[in-house]
Parts: sequence; C-alpha cells; structure tokens
Amino acid sequence: MTSAGRFAPSPSGELHVGNLRTAILAWLFARSSSREFLLRVEDLDRARAGAEAEQLRDLEAIGVTWDRGVVRQTARGALYAKAIERLQHAGLTYECFCTRREIQEAPSAPHALQGAYPGTCRNLDAAELEFRRASRPAAVRLRSEVHEYTVHDVLHGEFTGLVDDFVLRRNDGVTAYNLAVVVDDAAQGIDQVVRGDDLLPSTPRQAYLASLLKIPAPEYAHVPLVVNADGVRLAKRDGAVTLGDLDQRGITAAAVRDRLLASLGLPAGTLQRALDAFDPAGLPREPWIWTGMG
Ligand code: GLU
Repeated sequence: MTSAGRFAPSPSGELHVGNLRTAILAWLFARSSSREFLLRVEDLDRARAGAEAEQLRDLEAIGVTWDRGVVRQTARGALYAKAIERLQHAGLTYECFCTRREIQEAPSAPHALQGAYPGTCRNLDAAELEFRRASRPAAVRLRSEVHEYTVHDVLHGEFTGLVDDFVLRRNDGVTAYNLAVVVDDAAQGIDQVVRGDDLLPSTPRQAYLASLLKIPAPEYAHVPLVVNADGVRLAKRDGAVTLGDLDQRGITAAAVRDRLLASLGLPAGTLQRALDAFDPAGLPREPWIWTGMG
C-alpha cells in the first residue's frame, strides 16, 4: 500500500481562502515527505450541486495537483457498512433512539465530560429495544470503553480529548463523518492527515475508532485556521473570500496563491518553489488574519 496525504473537502459550497490555505499545506506536507496526495470528496452530507466541480477547478487554479482519481464518499457505503458490522460483531455498538432534544435535556452522568452523549440508550433491555424500534429508526453508536484518548500531532504535540459513545450511522441511514473518515483514510493508504485545527477535538474519537478497527492511526498535523478581523473563523459572509469573488475584483488565482504562500513564510511563484523552502517546524502556529486583497 502506498503512503499518502490528502485533502477532503465537503462540497457544500465554494472553497474560501482558509480552505485553500489548508489544501496548500496538506499538499506541501505530503509532497515534502514523498507521499502521494489524494483528493476525497466528503459528500455524505451537505453536498450542493455543482460545488465539487468548483472546488476541483479552484484547487487546480492555485496549483494543487493530486494523484489517482477523485474518491467520493457516496460511492463507498459498502465499505462503511462492513466496518460497522465488524464493530457490531465485537459487541462495540448499540442502537440509539434519542432525539437531539432528548440528548440536550438528559441529565448527564455525574462524572460525564462536557459534550458527551449521556448514555441513555446504552443498556436498553430487549423489551425496551422492541418498544423503541417500533417508534423510530435507530442510530448506531459506538460502545466506547474509554472516556478520553491521546493522539500525537506534529504541530500540537500530545493532545488528549473526549471520546464518548459517538454516532457511527445516523438514524436516517447516513454514515457519520467520524466513521467514514477513519475507514476511508485506511482504505486509501492515507497515513498523514493535515487539516484545520478546528478538527483537533474530533481526532481522539477517530484515533480510538481506528484502534478498535486495528488500523494504525495516521500522522496528524492540525494547521491554524484563517480568521477574520474579529478573530472568528473565516466564512463566506466575510466578503470576497473565494477565488470567484476575488476574480470579480480583478485578483487572479496566482495572486491569491502567492498571498497564501506569503502568509506561510514561503516564496511566491509556484507550489513547487514553495515546496523547496517548506519546513513544517517553521510554520506559523497562530491563526492567520485575512484582511482582504485589492
Ligand atoms: N470534510 C471535512 C471538512 O471539509 C474535513 C474532514 C477531514 O479533513 O478529516 O471540514
């Protein structure tokens, strides 16, 4: 199996400069460690028609290239079902009938960590199960045997975070992100995960799940986000933040690429030139404040 890094956008809309900066970083991390670089479209949820094509076009426009074909999660249901089955057979799952509201209103266990599923459906007996199955479809949750898990991150060092009985398959049948991402990374030979540091808190859940599936955890690098002038994660409402918006103001994709590279302390021109100068140890550790262009 090859060794690879990846970029895994959700096709919910156009990529903004924060997403593009993360894509450049993922590319640089992979290429600088002689890995392949793969593109996976995470379209299980939040997919908008046409967004994937826009995203691929914009990645190409800033020079991000990828190996092999694009993989789409909606084509991989059988793989996810198999992983859930393995966990089921090992007694590591249970059916959950809770609504979002019930979870919010449930009293949490005395020592439960903030944000943890309160375990309402963890020990339903056969009669209760039968009763609840008749009223609503079940989600599948992991029967976690730990409350936290520690991962190692290239930029953050050791990070310990919450692991609860998180959802593996939603009650509408859609595979949950945490399961899909672990299964896909393993199946694609991805052993390096570079993504925004907003996903660091999900990482202990994913690494724990990988351990249950006997998958070695990848190398993680959670990179700083791009924020607006108020220090809040950049979003579409922050003005001209996509290549499309910026193009309308006469700012080329090459100029945006160079601005993003400069924000990383890297030379402008091509990603290849930036690659020659790339050193993960020298990367800025703070969020980058986007103040616009032009
Ligand atoms: N699809 C996720 C997102 O766009 C990223 C998942 C990942 O990189 O693991 O936020």
